[in-house]
Amino acid sequence: MQDNEQVQQTQTSQANAGHTESQADIPVLPLRNIVFFPGQIMPLFVGRPSSVRLIEEAHQKQRSVLVLTQRDSSVDVPHSRDLYTKGTVVRVVKIYTMPDGSKSVVVQGQYRAEFLRMTSEEPYLVGEIQLLEERIPSVDDVEVAALVSNIRTQLKKLEQLLPESNPEQLNLIMNTHEMETFAFLVAAMLNIPVPEKQDLLETMDLKEFLNKLVVQLSKIIQRQELSQKIQAEVQDSINKAQREYFLREQLRAIKKELGEEKDQLEVDEMRKKLDEIEMPDEIRAVAEKELNRLSVMSPAAAEYGVTRNYLDWLLEMPWQVRTEDSLDISRVKEQLDRDHYGLETVKNRILEFLAVRKLKNDMRGPILCFVGPPGVGKTSLGRSIAEAMGRKYVRFSLGGVRDEAEIRGHRRTYIGALPGRIIQSIKKAGSSNPVLVLDEIDKVGMDFRGDPTSALLEVLDPEQNVHFSDHYLEVPFDLSNVLFIATANSLDTLQPALRDRMEIIEIPSYILDEKVHIARRHLLPKQLAEHGLTEKQLVIGDDVIRGVIDRYTREAGVRNLERKLADLCRGAARRIAEETVKKVTIREAVLPDYITSRKFYPEVAERICSPGIATGLAWTPVGGDILFIEATKMKGKGRLTITGQVRDVMKESVQAAMSYISANAKQLGVPEDFRDTLDIHVHVPAGAVPKDGPSAGVTMLTALTSLLTDRIVRNDLGMTGEITLRGQVLPIGGVKEKVLAAHRAGLKSVLLPKRNEDDLKEIPDSVSREITFHLVERMDEVLAIALQEKRRNRKSTKKSIESRKENS
Ligand code: ADP
Repeated sequence: MQDNEQVQQTQTSQANAGHTESQADIPVLPLRNIVFFPGQIMPLFVGRPSSVRLIEEAHQKQRSVLVLTQRDSSVDVPHSRDLYTKGTVVRVVKIYTMPDGSKSVVVQGQYRAEFLRMTSEEPYLVGEIQLLEERIPSVDDVEVAALVSNIRTQLKKLEQLLPESNPEQLNLIMNTHEMETFAFLVAAMLNIPVPEKQDLLETMDLKEFLNKLVVQLSKIIQRQELSQKIQAEVQDSINKAQREYFLREQLRAIKKELGEEKDQLEVDEMRKKLDEIEMPDEIRAVAEKELNRLSVMSPAAAEYGVTRNYLDWLLEMPWQVRTEDSLDISRVKEQLDRDHYGLETVKNRILEFLAVRKLKNDMRGPILCFVGPPGVGKTSLGRSIAEAMGRKYVRFSLGGVRDEAEIRGHRRTYIGALPGRIIQSIKKAGSSNPVLVLDEIDKVGMDFRGDPTSALLEVLDPEQNVHFSDHYLEVPFDLSNVLFIATANSLDTLQPALRDRMEIIEIPSYILDEKVHIARRHLLPKQLAEHGLTEKQLVIGDDVIRGVIDRYTREAGVRNLERKLADLCRGAARRIAEETVKKVTIREAVLPDYITSRKFYPEVAERICSPGIATGLAWTPVGGDILFIEATKMKGKGRLTITGQVRDVMKESVQAAMSYISANAKQLGVPEDFRDTLDIHVHVPAGAVPKDGPSAGVTMLTALTSLLTDRIVRNDLGMTGEITLRGQVLPIGGVKEKVLAAHRAGLKSVLLPKRNEDDLKEIPDSVSREITFHLVERMDEVLAIALQEKRRNRKSTKKSIESRKENS
């Protein structure tokens, strides 16, 4: 009911002068929500009919009215009990009639009075009132002055705090010097709850009144200040958010203009991915840091690409992705048998190895290392193990790796830096516990770029590889769940430190029969399937397979055999497609139509056609092989030339042979002055392949003696053995591989040092049955066996010692 119309208040110092007696029949006007103070001038809306009447009559009769505030503003027709008993006597100054019949009446407060007794309730409340006496302190009371000055200060402050406050009203108050009116006007102005305002009205002691004002004002100021502070803070945070939003929008607009909008998308996508994937907390922290860096980087900066690549790696590593192991030993056995023919001891060793891991419930431990010539199934055994265990399978070759960084990665500061092969393989596997085959571990080199072996040692050490640190990744990756399997061609070239760490399982070369079985059961079905053929469409007999092995492959394993079978399948598939035949049968005679590559002729016979050529047996990491040594002579002055990438040890064998021949020229039937009249050239063909080792000694000596005596060497004989200047024959290594190579090459007899006799036990029966072994201790025995009589008399020397393996 308070009017918003501004009414100028006037000072009313006369208002309360001298009304202390009680008065009867004063009309009482109830007010809702308003406590009226003396001195206050204010329009009131009067709506209740009884009140309208009261006002009109009072105005007419120039009567004062007591305004009392309702205790409860919700009561519509208040009785005397609903009103506070103390109020203010007012004078009606003016009445306005509103269009709806209600009245707006301007009243002026005069003095405070108490309602004593009701005399009539109709048509409006009328009763007896008692004027209230104020206790006014003396004007020069210091305390009052201080209170007043305090209130003035507070009002000024309030004026600043309340920008919407009415300046004129405040001005009026400030200019009121009469203390009591000043206090009333301040009280009237306060926006405080009715009971508190009423309490002020009822306070008769001026000092107390002023005190209460100070308290109320302080509260208002405090509240106001607090609310302003909150307001400011809210505003602040809104401002900040708004500012950031605007800046971001601007940035987006700029990026769009520069055509870099998609880079922002890239960052967003990465963030999304980071939220989705599982990774250890410390790695997530690193990724988040990098992502934040990336989001503020210009995509044109070189570092942007570097950081983005790095993040790609962090986000794509299978940090916590694992496959469930199934370590059912019988299942593993089934799988190994299904995939590989023979290899019984190898398979048993693998099963034992896995069984121990299973019992220990721990896949850590020594690393398996398969050692054997190429193509014997080392890598594919690894794949079978992975498959049987339900693990992912990855492999990479260490052949020719010389740089530690290839294992451990380059630091990110290098241009084009990448993680090492280990981390790359793990990413490729997509799980943190794959079977990882480290191929050709015996081929790691070492040079100025650092030693990869040391990095490998760390990788293979179950104690250390929990925190394997790649230079590029920088954060550690746990490799302890990876099942490492290494493969090597030869134990000799394997670094001893690595060898110690591994459980070696040797896989021997295959003999012909085994190869035929492998081809029939594994390689051929595999190739048929790969070429979309069925068994019925391509018929190949065992004899044909044997022919392929014999004449088109010369290897310890079955890798080339597999390729040749692929050739056959390809040719057959083509004929079936082109000629619409239903079935292709391949016989030996037509093999050249299908297999394009070089055929291996049983060449030994043809090669050994003149004096000076001998057949040696060599051991290479890819299995055994035969090798020819050719010597030729020309007029000269005893110059010795050796060609064919012959390394030092083999060269020394030539020298030793020359010396032996010189020393024994007479017995051997060699012209004693040959060193003055002849130049000699020794060549070891297949000149691109470096050759070394002392085991070619007997072959050198045989070739040279053959040359100098004009006696041809037997063409069905392969030989191996080291020689001494005294003519002794010393034992050599790799007997089994060498004998198998001789057998493959179709040689009928093999000459070996006597001290290698024990090694013959390793040779499969099927091979030793077909070969005659000559075990020798001295060079003269060698020459007696190897050299044919002049004039090509094929009869061999009586002194020859022929020996066959006991059980052959
Ligand atoms: P390595 O790793 O020893 O050089 P691979 O594992 O690459 O040899 O083998 C070459 C091919 O020969 C593969 O296709 C493999 O399946 C096959 N192979 C080798 N040994 C056998 C075997 N005993 N039984 C069946 N297939 C074999």
